[in-house]
Amino acid sequence: MVAYVTYHLLLKKSLTTLHAIFLVGLYVVLFFIPSVIWAQQYDLLIKSGHVVDPKNRINAKKDVAVAAGKIAKVADDIPAAQSKKIIDATGLYVVPGLIDIHTHVFVGTKPDKFADGIYSVSPDDFTFKSGVTTVVDAGTSGWRNFPLFKEQVIDKSQTRVLAFINIAGSGMSGKPLQEDLNDMNADSAALVIQKYKDIIVGVKIGHYEGSDWTPFERALDAGRQSNTPLFVECHLPQFSLEDQLKKMRPGDIITHSFEQVAERMPIVDEHGNVRPFVLAAQKKGVLFDVGHGGAGFWFSQAVPAFQQGLTPNSFGSDLHRFSMNAGMKSVLNIMSKYMAIGMSVEDVVARATWNAARSIKREDLGNLGEGSVADIAVLSMQNGKFGFIDAAGNRLEGNRKLEAELTVREGKIVWDLNGIAAKAWKQ
Ligand SMILES: [Zn+2]
Repeated sequence: MVAYVTYHLLLKKSLTTLHAIFLVGLYVVLFFIPSVIWAQQYDLLIKSGHVVDPKNRINAKKDVAVAAGKIAKVADDIPAAQSKKIIDATGLYVVPGLIDIHTHVFVGTKPDKFADGIYSVSPDDFTFKSGVTTVVDAGTSGWRNFPLFKEQVIDKSQTRVLAFINIAGSGMSGKPLQEDLNDMNADSAALVIQKYKDIIVGVKIGHYEGSDWTPFERALDAGRQSNTPLFVECHLPQFSLEDQLKKMRPGDIITHSFEQVAERMPIVDEHGNVRPFVLAAQKKGVLFDVGHGGAGFWFSQAVPAFQQGLTPNSFGSDLHRFSMNAGMKSVLNIMSKYMAIGMSVEDVVARATWNAARSIKREDLGNLGEGSVADIAVLSMQNGKFGFIDAAGNRLEGNRKLEAELTVREGKIVWDLNGIAAKAWKQ
């Protein structure tokens, strides 16, 4: 364009010194400066890692470029000169930031409480060091106290915090409040979900000890009205497992799938077989989340279920004060545990990323597609002799363990275990 104008100006023999200076300036602005900027069009380039991106069916060595907080490009070879910062991920896995769909993070000061209390934990304290960039709070808040949860935790966290809200208005605030039928209102829950639809992904039912199905029906009603899934936690001792699964719709999620406790029938019977009605629910489309927690994961359930084809759809950790230092530890530890049980790396990554995103209807997350938010986990595979513990105190040996080397949240490095993104120190 500039050359064209110059050519015509020359033709007209009207090129003065001023014109010439102007045109040289124009050349610099239009071609030279952009070429320098263009050379470093990416903020971050993660090179030579093994990318596992189940949504986009990528399981190969690739480079991943990030610009303005988004995935800009995933390709076999992106020149290092095009990025301001380069990270060598040779020998490491590069996967979407992990999603934990079962946590309790409505932390506050109330003693002996999950809602606004000390039984919950602060998300950033536990997430990035395990490659997790998104957590979903499992109904610690209800439709009544969700705004406090948002103000106190969600808005203050670097971790993306989403939520299932409890059909009990005040969430997990202990008895008798959390069992008050008058505070379980489907219309109010649906309204709050609609108001905060970018954050609230569904409705939770749990912690009800009566035999009346009204709470369950109201939670289902709120799910129907808001077109969101129902998340069924345990502590519903009077409801039979078969009836719960029958009432659940395709896409609804049951957690603590592999628990073996008195208050809920285990999914594997006394002969070691997955109960037929459980397999029928899986076939119908009910999703099974791990929900490990302190008591929710038993090898006696998980291993036969895995062998008979009932694998969990997601690896919710049930992170809270009492599970973090027990057998659960982290989503990465659950992933490693399932590798020890026999699951492939690709399959454990799928459950901690794309499957989890789909189950909460957030298909913008859990993938490394170009244009997606740059939430990334760079993982190392440790080889050696490791042990994994279940809720019964049993130990399963394994020889591989995943560790988070680097975590990126919306293009920003938020965890760097060994300084692979840092400059070498020189005296
Ligand atoms: Zn829970």
